[in-house]
Amino acid sequence: MTRVLVAEGVRKRYGALVALDDVDLEIAAGEVLALLGPNGAGKTTLVSIVAGLRRADAGRVEVAGCDVARDPHGARLRLGLAPQELGVYPTLSVRDNLRFHGELAGLRGAELRRRIAEAAQALALERLLARAARTLSGGEARRLHTAMSVMGRPALLLLDEPTAGADLDMRAQLLALVRALAAEGTGVCYSTHYLHEVERLGASVAIIDAGRIAARGSLDALVGRYGRAGVELRFDGPPPPLDGDRVSDTSVRVATREAPAEAAARILARLGAETRRLRAVELIEPSLESVFLDVTGRRFSVNGHHAGGGEDDDGGA
Ligand code: ATP
Repeated sequence: MTRVLVAEGVRKRYGALVALDDVDLEIAAGEVLALLGPNGAGKTTLVSIVAGLRRADAGRVEVAGCDVARDPHGARLRLGLAPQELGVYPTLSVRDNLRFHGELAGLRGAELRRRIAEAAQALALERLLARAARTLSGGEARRLHTAMSVMGRPALLLLDEPTAGADLDMRAQLLALVRALAAEGTGVCYSTHYLHEVERLGASVAIIDAGRIAARGSLDALVGRYGRAGVELRFDGPPPPLDGDRVSDTSVRVATREAPAEAAARILARLGAETRRLRAVELIEPSLESVFLDVTGRRFSVNGHHAGGGEDDDGGA
């Protein structure tokens, strides 16, 4: 198995704060790894170290066999990073930004033009090729960043929330692109606020929590191991005493070994007068969401907003 990312014993502190605590992580060629974690868990720090933008205090990182600390240039050539602002030339056109990135990756002539056309097509940028990058909308700029990151067909691709703000068609197209790149052997480290995408990508999962890799494995293995079924009940005001975990000021989650519907019926039968304050009951089947909750003790959320369920629907298919 070719490994396009090897991180071993990576540590990083910011003053007294330990952002990464002995992180080991590997990504194989052709693997899509979803890197998930609560806010502040250390995802950006880890990705920045892999990309050579920050230095680890200890540990070793190799990108496609190149040590990031000893051969930063070699490592950089083997990896694709969607630059957020960094790396985009605002006054240059979309086409020239792509061309510049392709040239950095060693592409020339017909091959360069072909890659520009492919990346523009995959990220729906064809209409925008002549536009100055600074005139793009937020979503368009994000697509340009992603297109730039894939120009050089890197061994390792780091994608940080590439679908944020994208509409349904665009999201489906992006997921198809990631799958196609992985099928060609690219290893992808993918962070997202949409757990549904992890399933659609057939991605394996690493959950990082408080600077440590708290769980790592295939989706099926993690759901089998951690994905407990449960019932979540939301009340008008604080929940009554129930044998479960408080997940918000008004909600409690009760884990169950039986089917969630049976557990819900049992709990509701015992609620008595508190039933009047009940606002919602959610049945939780074992899933990546319940894995995340079990591993981190927190719901998978975007800045406190729940990102599962309906918002997570990216159009099926
Ligand atoms: P989010 O999902 O919110 O983007 P994250 O998982 O990417 O979070 P990091 O940005 O890696 O988390 O941050 C990890 C921890 O290190 C956080 O507690 C953060 O406040 C802290 N941190 C990050 N960068 C710095 C910095 N330059 N100086 C001090 N502390 C930092």
